[in-house]
Amino acid sequence: MISIDQALQIVLESALRAAPEPVPLADALNLVLAENIASGIDSPPHDKSTVDGYAVVAADLATGTARLAILEEITAGDVPHSKVKPGSATRIMTGAPIPSGADAVVMIEQTQIDETAVRPMVEVFDSPLRVGENIMPRGTSLRVGETVLSANQTIRPIEVGLLAEIGRTEVLAFRRPQVAILATGNELVPANRVPAPGQIRNSNGPMIRALVEQAGGVSNDLGIGRDEKEALATLVREGLNSDVLVLSGGVSAGVLDLVPEVLEMAGVETVFHRVQLKPGKPLWFGVKRQPSGNCLVFGLPGNPVSSLVCFELFVRPVLQKLRGHKPSGLERQEGILATEHAQQGQRPTYFPGVLSIEGARREVRTLNWQGSADQRSLTEANCLIYFPPGDRIFTSGTVVPIFLL
Ligand code: AMP
Ligand code: MG
Repeated sequence: MISIDQALQIVLESALRAAPEPVPLADALNLVLAENIASGIDSPPHDKSTVDGYAVVAADLATGTARLAILEEITAGDVPHSKVKPGSATRIMTGAPIPSGADAVVMIEQTQIDETAVRPMVEVFDSPLRVGENIMPRGTSLRVGETVLSANQTIRPIEVGLLAEIGRTEVLAFRRPQVAILATGNELVPANRVPAPGQIRNSNGPMIRALVEQAGGVSNDLGIGRDEKEALATLVREGLNSDVLVLSGGVSAGVLDLVPEVLEMAGVETVFHRVQLKPGKPLWFGVKRQPSGNCLVFGLPGNPVSSLVCFELFVRPVLQKLRGHKPSGLERQEGILATEHAQQGQRPTYFPGVLSIEGARREVRTLNWQGSADQRSLTEANCLIYFPPGDRIFTSGTVVPIFLL
């Protein structure tokens, strides 16, 4: 049986990032860029006012007060028509282009319009202005030709904004992988059905779908496959058209655990079966090599917590890598055990826990977990506590690695 680290290394070596594709900006959030992006514009495109006020000749205000003739009013979107000369001013709003001749803007709060004058006049007080005050010069934020984003950067909302500003409505990026999901088991019925005696609802299908979507994959839920070679083979063939096929159930040692055999019959090469891990030992992994692109196939154990742990340890990093992200998996931290824990057996264990942070103290307690079929306890968890293999009592106060859920 291989170790967790060996298994992770193998799955990551099999995961090859697909060629980048043009993606519309509206679909680009959280994708990784595959090109350097140069700006085709200066921003701002003109010297612009950063306040509402009057565009003036700064020298007019050398004494702190002035009485100026108002030439025109420009709001954002307008262009100025008159040159500002000494003794005059143009009323200007935030974002509007600075008229020629003006070299500063005085804020509206420092001015008062003279209603009594025949021609519109403005009184300005208390404002020895610097040249350039309240003006953002053209190209201050970015210049034509400048590289503003680099390949391998993740596109966050702010990058979407910047790309829109420079007019890039399509970018080269690594697309989301297509992930087919197939839950297997004669006992399974869809979640909207009442199980007959002996049956249970398919909870793994919806859970894995949620995990895939959370990890940035595009899910294709193939529903439930019965434990029957022909029926499974048909669904498997459909699933192999995806980048990744995730099955649940049918990979242990039971009489109806047909998944490995059916996958091999469909031409999927077995890479490993079983990992030194609790929960999740029966994990199966293989690769279907095909001209249209390889499909990575994970047979997750049927018990829900085993399925989730295997997804987090192996499938999530693979999806991260396919998307061009660092395959870092769940975030690793440390906690101080608040409860004693008896670890038994030769398999490293991921145990549901609750991390609570009070000031500098990071306490973690184990939950009363009933094993890999108990997904209810996991809903109370916010982390998985890692216990290394070997029989040992972990006393409270021990520092343990934890993985945030
Ligand atoms: P298996 O790996 O097929 O032997 O299944 C192991 C256990 O997980 C059995 O108790 C199954 O009933 C249960 N199980 C399998 N598939 C699912 C599923 N999709 N949703 C919930 N439980 C499942
Ligand atoms: Mg089964």
